[in-house]
Amino acid sequence: MIGEQFLQLPGPTPVPDRVMRAMSKAMVNHRGPEFKQILEEVVEGIKKTYQTKQNVLIYPASGTGALEAAVVNFISPGDRVLAISIGVFGDRFAKIAAEFGAEVEKLDFEWGTAADPQIIRKKLHQDKNKEIKAVLITHNETSTGAFNDIKTIRKEIMDHPALFIVDAVSSLAALDLQMDEWALDVVVSGSQKAFMIPPGLSFLAFNERALEIHKKNSNRKYYWDVTAGLQYLEKGQNPYTPAISLYYGLQESLNMMLGEGLDNIIARHKRYRDIVRAGIKEMGLDLLAADDVASTALTSVVAPKDIGANKIRKYLQEEFNIVLAGGQQKLNDIIFRVGHLGYVRDLDLLSVLAALEIALIKLGYKLELGSGVKAAQRFLLDKSE
Ligand SMILES: *Cc1c(COP(=O)(O)O)cnc(C)c1O
Repeated sequence: MIGEQFLQLPGPTPVPDRVMRAMSKAMVNHRGPEFKQILEEVVEGIKKTYQTKQNVLIYPASGTGALEAAVVNFISPGDRVLAISIGVFGDRFAKIAAEFGAEVEKLDFEWGTAADPQIIRKKLHQDKNKEIKAVLITHNETSTGAFNDIKTIRKEIMDHPALFIVDAVSSLAALDLQMDEWALDVVVSGSQKAFMIPPGLSFLAFNERALEIHKKNSNRKYYWDVTAGLQYLEKGQNPYTPAISLYYGLQESLNMMLGEGLDNIIARHKRYRDIVRAGIKEMGLDLLAADDVASTALTSVVAPKDIGANKIRKYLQEEFNIVLAGGQQKLNDIIFRVGHLGYVRDLDLLSVLAALEIALIKLGYKLELGSGVKAAQRFLLDKSE
């Protein structure tokens, strides 16, 4: 088929040409002055996206690597941990903590909904002896397209000393997240979502409170040890060989992002959410997440039962080269997910809606051709007035 894959996934996301070109530069010595300059620049840039002045380390790993780094550096075996889950990624964070010896208590909320701040508050309030050492939570749940109100939840439990550890892999630079203002202790993110670079880097940000707890941490670690990471960062280096090409890409993508401005980026993602939701609603399909908890990074659509989500995805890929994500685990074939984070344009989403209408009609769904696209166009027109 002509042209590149039309990647509308919640990661990996499309990579701008500028970033691709930046990544084709020759290698430099990762212990030399050129790399030091790049490392210092990208760490400063990442801090701006996190809205933090705290520590940031970069790992050559996908997001899960930095989730594991968060666990082994800040949670010791035997620590009681409250793991809040609203989907697959919340479950994963809980599993990693359990694997490294934490006594994990899961607090599950129905998939497609967000965590209830009052229930979390009550849970921590019941912990009179302050035995819970950490709270794990996902900001944007990529498996469902619902997001947690991190700011409110954090505020509700400020009187409890547990470390507040956030998986922001698919939310940073797509949803507003203010690490310092909201008093988040540890925040994890990754490269292949809103940062517009290929998979392979993840970021671990942590404040001084977390660092003090790290100093007494007894978990096993070597590659992920933040003590080593911080020591080398002072010299402008990584403890081990970094993924140099990805740093070139990150340097370029951060230039783009900071040039556009965080507020503009967040607003742009809100617009994507609204375009897609306007179109889908008009087609008469259900959305998994309600409006007030709907992610600006992706949208989960419930497929017509008699067709199934995977047939729709297959049709879109074969006929239009459009790649949407499927449902994970119990949501397989129930939903499909439209990613709209990072390097995306309004036009891309209009195209997805137009092609989706054709797919639905072809597969037997009753729909007035153009109705969803029209609703999205109407939304954009009204917004520009
Ligand atoms: C993508 C993602 C991850 C990390 O997954 P990797 O495949 O390891 O990059 C973790 N949490 C969330 C919420 C994600 O969206």
